[in-house]
This record gives sequence, structure tokens and C-alpha cells, in this order.
Amino acid sequence: MAVMTPQLNLPTVRQTFFQNSLMSALLDGIYDGEMSIGEILGHGNFGIGTFDGLDGEMIILDGVCWQVRGDGSACKASMSQRSPYTVVTNFVPHIAIDAPPNLTRSEISPIIDSKVPSQNFMYALRITGDFEWVKTRTVVKQQKPYQKMINATEEDASVDFEDVTGTIAGFRTPVYEKGISVPGCHVHFLADGGTGGGHVLDFKLRSGTIEICPGTDLQLRLPLTAEFSDADLAPDDLDDQIHATEVKS
Ligand SMILES: [Zn+2]
Repeated sequence: MAVMTPQLNLPTVRQTFFQNSLMSALLDGIYDGEMSIGEILGHGNFGIGTFDGLDGEMIILDGVCWQVRGDGSACKASMSQRSPYTVVTNFVPHIAIDAPPNLTRSEISPIIDSKVPSQNFMYALRITGDFEWVKTRTVVKQQKPYQKMINATEEDASVDFEDVTGTIAGFRTPVYEKGISVPGCHVHFLADGGTGGGHVLDFKLRSGTIEICPGTDLQLRLPLTAEFSDADLAPDDLDDQIHATEVKS
């Protein structure tokens, strides 16, 4: 297997990330997709997303798709459920780092920056270990007519996990992909055993491993639906909408 050399500012192998629809479509309230979980798993064994109707956060680990609901509880999703937005890949841990102990999200971020070959590629991230705490929030199922995501996520409750082992999974996306995806880090959490999780706001990792899979190719699948056809995918306040719905600070 090819190994990434940090001194070389290029990934050493090509790796495809597959994406279903666009972040800007989700922001515009396009919450019903046309891809089933079964089809999505055919494009990757690792990833994140959401479900039709914005019914919870999705996290795919080792080919198993988990659905996390608004109260932080998790269950395995069925192959026939559908998703309006997903990013997946077949995760290969080309870069692995033993995390220095007791670091928060903002302290781990520069460590990841220092290990990746360039800001200009995509990265899948997997952090496994023992967490002192993980602060999450989870979207809740919407009813039609759907509101824009900035309104639909106003009431999201945050769920905090303490003294928990588990996995944080997701993607670090270049700024030039803004609107296609969420620029920066977008990660979800699943506690070991699938006992709970959510969209990660912050965490403190007592000890664990950070694994990174560089992405060089993006396969984008746009929904062939009337709703997507009519969506406003380039709003003037795109930055503010992404910040309000995903970063929540
Ligand atoms: Zn999320």
C-alpha cells in the first residue's frame, strides 16, 4: 500500500469521494433524496450525511450506516431508507497519528493541518479513542412544506456525552468547495456499540488515534428531482447559512 510522505506535498494515490447532492440544496430545504442507503454503501464504507426529511444525522463506519436521532440515540439504518445528502469513500488510513493526550477540537485541528500534504485536497478523517466529552447536536425530522435549513435547525438541542469511547468520522473540505460541501471540518460522532452520537460541535479526546485518508477525485451525483431543479443554490448569504446550520457558534 502506498504511504503518504509528509515531506511530499502530494497524495501518493488517487482516492474518490462520492457525494450525493449539494450542501446548498440542503440549505434550501431539499430534504428528500432519491438515493437509498443500499446504493450509497455501494460507493463507500465510510461517511456522513442525513436522511430524508432531515430525520437525523448519518454516520457510516465499516460499511454500517447509523441513524442518530434528535435525542442523541442511534440505530442501524435500513438499506431502503433514502438520503438527500451524503459524502462517502472507501476509507484507507494513509496517515495515522497517535493523538497527544487531552486535546479539544481546536487543539487537534493544527495537528491535522501539519500532517496533511496540502490545503488543496480533500480529506476523510477518523478519530477513535477515549473522549472526556463530546458535544453534539442533531437535526430533527421535518414536515412538509419544508423550511430552509437555517430555520429548520434553530431548535436543535445539543446532546453531550461524557466519559465515552467512540469514533468521530467525517471530512475536511477545501474552501473552494463551499456550497458543494461544508468547508472546513464536518464530522459526526458514534459512541462504541452504537449507543448514541450526533453532529460534532466540540470534543476533548483523552487518548486515541487520528487517521486521515486524502481524497483526490470527487464524484458528484445531482438529484433528478423537480425540487432540486427549482432550488436556489447560490444564495447571497451562503456563508452565513453554512455557519448558522453547521458550525453553530
Ligand atoms: Zn453534520
